[in-house]
Amino acid sequence: MLQYLIILLDDTSTSYCHYENPKKDAGLIPLNILKAGIRFGMVENLMIQFVYPDYELPGEYKEAIESIDHSKIVSSLCNDKSLADEADVIVFHDWSGISYAMTFPDKSYVLRTTKAKLFERYLFLKEFLSKVARLNIVITDIETFDDGDYEQYKLILHTLSENIEKMYVDGLAPQLNLLTDRIMLKEMNNCGAGDTNITLAPNGKFYICHAFYIENEDDCIGDVKRGLDIKNKQLYKLKYSPICSHCDAYQCKRCVWLNRKTTLEVNTPSHEQCVVAHLERNSSCELLKSIRKHGKFLPETEIQEIDYLDPFDKRKEW
Ligand code: SF4
Repeated sequence: MLQYLIILLDDTSTSYCHYENPKKDAGLIPLNILKAGIRFGMVENLMIQFVYPDYELPGEYKEAIESIDHSKIVSSLCNDKSLADEADVIVFHDWSGISYAMTFPDKSYVLRTTKAKLFERYLFLKEFLSKVARLNIVITDIETFDDGDYEQYKLILHTLSENIEKMYVDGLAPQLNLLTDRIMLKEMNNCGAGDTNITLAPNGKFYICHAFYIENEDDCIGDVKRGLDIKNKQLYKLKYSPICSHCDAYQCKRCVWLNRKTTLEVNTPSHEQCVVAHLERNSSCELLKSIRKHGKFLPETEIQEIDYLDPFDKRKEW
């Protein structure tokens, strides 16, 4: 069921996920489209998330935005510094400004990073995690992982897991999507693009997500005047994903854009996406056991030991 409407305020609105936004020329959403999008969200009872560009919006846009309950997704590079205080999610596109986050410890952060930078700099995360409410790490080149990368990623997750265990012992409750989400989840909690959320672009058309808009503006799923028209909409649902519906890596993003890019099917994940998510799942299992050595912790949660890293390898048992 649709729950969220994501509104891109500009063609240069920040990426907050796997895809890059190469658009450099401002293309502000027309005010009447913004208002029509807000109306659509109200009528459909959707929670609205606004994705900001890096420049300050005109006053009448701020007024329209504040007319409805919403969340703000803002890049750390945004020139409108007043937004840093108001933002619900602040996105880092590299590691250089990460210490800036310490100024706003109550916020959620997204760090978009390549695997190479993560492998090189993950030790910086220890202090960061102890200072902020939540960190989501998005690896922007998951599809390039190979066997050597998997080994290295496993070791990095192990180190981060040890750090998090110590923080729990010290009375902190750090949240890192890669390791703590699976511990808290009892069912799939994936991105949900095309299923629980859709995106309105500045051209007044709806898209499965921001990445689909960037890749091909003709690939729309309706518009604010005529409403939604999602072709084969069942394909965006977990039930119609033969591999994912047999999986318990509940924290996985299950990125349909990445699926289409790597396998040409929105409901079929790549091997790389699955292995990376299972390394995180298994490390979460270890983290849970380690924290429980220090006392009762989420006694009802069970993460089973498994002997595979890609559910596709178990398809004969389904
Ligand atoms: S790990 Fe693979 S099978 Fe499991 S939810 Fe993620 S993409 Fe789907």
